[in-house]
Amino acid sequence: MKQLVDFKKEIHKCSKCGLCQAECPIYKITGNDCSVSRGQFIMLKGFLKGELKLTKTINRYLDLCLKCGACTKFCPSGIDVVDIIIAAKSEYFKLHFFEKIKSFFQKYFVFGFIPNIAKFFRPKTKSKTFSKKILYFGGCGSKFKSDKPVVKILNSIEIEVINPDFSCCGIPYFSRGDLKSFNDSIKKYIKILKKYEINKVVTTCASCEKSLKDYVKWAETSDREFLKTIQVKNIYEYLKESQVKLKLKMPTKITYHKPCNINNWKDIEWLLKNTENLEYIEMKDFDKCCGLNGISKIKEFKILSQLFKEKQKNIINTHSKRVLTSCLGCEIALKAYSFGHYKTQDLLDFISNRI
Ligand code: SF4
Ligand code: SF4
Repeated sequence: MKQLVDFKKEIHKCSKCGLCQAECPIYKITGNDCSVSRGQFIMLKGFLKGELKLTKTINRYLDLCLKCGACTKFCPSGIDVVDIIIAAKSEYFKLHFFEKIKSFFQKYFVFGFIPNIAKFFRPKTKSKTFSKKILYFGGCGSKFKSDKPVVKILNSIEIEVINPDFSCCGIPYFSRGDLKSFNDSIKKYIKILKKYEINKVVTTCASCEKSLKDYVKWAETSDREFLKTIQVKNIYEYLKESQVKLKLKMPTKITYHKPCNINNWKDIEWLLKNTENLEYIEMKDFDKCCGLNGISKIKEFKILSQLFKEKQKNIINTHSKRVLTSCLGCEIALKAYSFGHYKTQDLLDFISNRI
């Protein structure tokens, strides 16, 4: 697995041009260089040279980063900022016992025990049989929600859905820097793929999608070749590929929040614009992070609430009473900050209930 030292060259590529500041939603609030990639790289260089220790203060800045990747898109040196921040988080994790306790609680209780109890109240939907088969990775969210929308929509384009009991994709451990637990998630995933001998995986959650696609970068060398043979897609890619023409029973006006981890926005946009009776109003900054990416920042609520409020204002200004999204984390954040102004729903759940 990659270590911070493996990114030394990458960190040195930073020319300190400061363009990341213009894109970083956290820098816009704090105005503090330590909370954006440029400042973080200066601190990490110091750590790698042995001149600085990875203190609680530095970790706070690493945690403040939303891992949204907005700065990477504009970085003239093409630095993959998120990977470096995660590698730094991993160094901090190794050095601090309390981080291990927090991760243990997350792994076995929040993303283990609770979803495993919840799934008993959500019986699985039986899929129709077709020659084209696909594995559905629902992640933790699927233990709380019915898989009916996925099965219904994929069956309508003649794809059979196999829905095994995948566990968490590991993104919460990844964000904390617990790469060992993240690797356990990779191992569990590989075990299930080998059992079913299907190399096509579909997901509906942007964070799960990012995580599954990142596995190949972070897995043990011996697992990488196998992971390269697996095709991970978001369900919207299938819908666009098959040019499905959906029609809602009633005309409805909606807006959409694009999760940071979505990289197939064109497919989603196509669906929003091509579903009959669906009036899509684009909100200002529809692609800006909701504030919840990575979930270890609740203690920074004061800063995050400014992001939440901005998002809330942009949703209200569209005059649509409903905001749709495609990530469980975003859905939770948008719901928590709606205060009755609008309803929040997963895009696929919304469509499948109305066709
Ligand atoms: S945009 Fe890239 S090169 Fe420029 S300061 Fe930020 S991280 Fe460094
Ligand atoms: S990943 Fe997002 S939050 Fe983190 S430094 Fe880049 S723009 Fe800022």
